[in-house]
Amino acid sequence: MKIGILAVQGGVAEHERTLRQVAEKYRDNSDSSWGNLEIVLVRRAEHLEGINGLILPGGESTTMSRLLTLSGMDTLLKEALDAGLPAYGTCAGMILLASNVLDTRPDAIWLSALDITVRRNAFGRQRDSFEADLTFTGIDEPVHATFIRAPIVEDVSDKVEVLCREPEGRIVGVRQGRVLATSFHPEVSGITDVHEYFLSMCEDANFTYTA
Ligand code: GLN
Repeated sequence: MKIGILAVQGGVAEHERTLRQVAEKYRDNSDSSWGNLEIVLVRRAEHLEGINGLILPGGESTTMSRLLTLSGMDTLLKEALDAGLPAYGTCAGMILLASNVLDTRPDAIWLSALDITVRRNAFGRQRDSFEADLTFTGIDEPVHATFIRAPIVEDVSDKVEVLCREPEGRIVGVRQGRVLATSFHPEVSGITDVHEYFLSMCEDANFTYTA
């Protein structure tokens, strides 16, 4: 299994570390291929070749949007997602995957891979950053979630499965087919469950990207 991490800006290293942690955990497990997980940092078109899934990290969505547009990677990513590439976006990554973004810059772009409306920086100043243990459909243990200037999912279409809500009931985890997104950062919490959930999605999809 080969997983790409979009590496134009933001928390790339945290996702890399989490994926390495998963690989370490499965190293001696002969029933799983995750012990041989390959990680590719995706900066240019050629880095997408042969990946089975893509992670879009947290960071600053408007900066990522600008860099993706400048390099033309926005079009390539859209094509890859349309073709069926599994993807997981955390925080700014969720914003990039959305089909509608509120409170962003007028020139920002997004990839419309999830039928959701997200509002950026939706938690207000006092709760800019906080942690909470959340119930996540498909994961048995509570997920320790770290929120950092996180977006909220304000609306979902009926194609979207809501997987997780924050303590006040607002939506912070969603899945639509092969695309997963969380407002929070499991890669900062130091847990591997959500990444393992995503790797299972990639395994089920059995998709390899080729240009
Ligand atoms: N507030 C950032 C944005 O709108 C997201 C923050 C994050 O990814 N931790 O892009």
